[in-house]
Amino acid sequence: MRAFVHSLGCRVNQYEAQFLAESLATLPGEGEIHVVNTCTVTTLADRKSRKLVAQLKRAHPGALVVAVGCGADGTGLRRAGADLVVGNKHKTRLAAILSAYLRGQSWEEGEWPKLTEEQVQGPFPRARALLKVQDGCTQACTFCRTWQVRGPLRSKPPKVARQEAQRLASAGHQEIVVTGINLAQYGLDLPDTPSLTDLLRELLQVPKIRIRLTSLNPEGVTSELIALFAREPRLCPYLHMPLQSGDDRVLSAMGRAYTAAEYKEKARAFLEQVPKATLGADVMVGFPGEDERAFARTVELLAELVPLNVHIFRYSPRPGTPAARLAGRVAAKEAAQRSATLAALAQKWAQETKTRFLGQVLELLVEEKEGRVWVGHTENYIMVGVAGVELPRGTIVPVRLCALEEDRVKGVVVDRSENCGDHPS
Ligand code: SF4
Repeated sequence: MRAFVHSLGCRVNQYEAQFLAESLATLPGEGEIHVVNTCTVTTLADRKSRKLVAQLKRAHPGALVVAVGCGADGTGLRRAGADLVVGNKHKTRLAAILSAYLRGQSWEEGEWPKLTEEQVQGPFPRARALLKVQDGCTQACTFCRTWQVRGPLRSKPPKVARQEAQRLASAGHQEIVVTGINLAQYGLDLPDTPSLTDLLRELLQVPKIRIRLTSLNPEGVTSELIALFAREPRLCPYLHMPLQSGDDRVLSAMGRAYTAAEYKEKARAFLEQVPKATLGADVMVGFPGEDERAFARTVELLAELVPLNVHIFRYSPRPGTPAARLAGRVAAKEAAQRSATLAALAQKWAQETKTRFLGQVLELLVEEKEGRVWVGHTENYIMVGVAGVELPRGTIVPVRLCALEEDRVKGVVVDRSENCGDHPS
C-alpha cells in the first residue's frame, strides 16, 4: 500500500502527520491510501478539510480516502467522500485500524493513548524537526473547540522525549521545535509533575541541537524558565506568547488564565533577561464585547513590547463554543478595520525589531531556496535571506544581518564575506 498524508492545521498536526506517514509506510498490500489530517480551529478549517477530502476522492477514485484528527467528529467528511473517519482518540492507532479495515474486520475503540506510544524517527521533510511533548488542554477558552477534541491532558516523560530528540538529531536535524496543544500544562499528568523547564533541561542533554518552543501561554512562562533561556544559548530566544487581548474584561470573557499586566510583566522579563530575545504574539480582534477602548489597550500593550511577529485572527463564532452565545458582537466591518490597523502596526514593530539586530551576527538555520536566495530563520526567529552562495540545507550557519528587505533581512555568511557592501544579490 502506498500511503500519502495530507495535513492541515498546527504544528502538533504536522508532527502527527509525520507519525502517520512513518507508521503507514509498512502497510502491506496494493493500492493507495490518502489520509487527510483535518483541523477544526475555525469553520474555514472545517471547510478546507472537507474540500481536500472531496478533491482527493475525485483525483484518486480507486484510492481509500481516510479523514483523521480534530475535525473528524462530524458527518460532513463522510459526505465529502471519506471512506473512513477516525478521530484524535484513535489516530495513533491508524495503521492497526487500517489493517483491520482492509481485511474487512471491525476495530475496537480503546482509551486515549499515552504519548509514549507516539514517537517519530525522522527525518522530517523540512529542515526543522518537531517534537510533540503534550496533548490536551483543560483551559477551556470560550472561543476554542480544540480542547473539546483533543482529549485529556497527556505529556511525554522527559527521558522519553530526550531519546526521541536524540533520534531526530541522529537523523540530521539541528533544530528541534517542542510542540504541544498547551505547553503551559506540560507535566501536570505525569508522576512528580516535571515542569517545562525540567523537560528542556533534559532535551539539552542532546548535544549539537538547538531547541525552539512553539506557542506558550503566559501562565507557562515562569521565572525558572526565563532563567534557563537566559543562560542557555542552545534555547532559541524567541517566545511566541499568545496575548489575544490587552483588555482584562475581554480576556476574562475569553476564559484566559492571565491579565494584561501579567502578560506584560512576563514578556518584559523575557525580553530584558534573555540575550537577543524577541517576542511573537497571537491577537484575536472583534471578540464579543471588544469596544474601541479595549482594542486600544491591546495596541498600547503591544506597542510597549514591540513584538517581532503578531498573528492576527478575526473572531468568528464557532458553533458549540460558549463564546458563540455571547452578546456584544462586533460588526464585521469594524473587526476588519481593527485587523488592518493592527497589521500595519505589526509591520512597523517587526521592522523596528529587525533594525535592532542589523550588523549583528546570528545563527541561521538554512531552510529552503527561493531562486538564488537561501532562506531561513535565526535563533530569535528573524527571517533572513542569503544570496549568491551554496549552503547546506538543514545546517546552522553564522550570518551577519545587513539590510532590511520587505519580509526578511538580507544576510551574509560571516566566514565568507564580512562586508555587507559586497553582498552579491
Ligand atoms: S489542535 Fe487546533 S489548530 Fe491543531 S489541528 Fe487541531 S483544531 Fe487545528
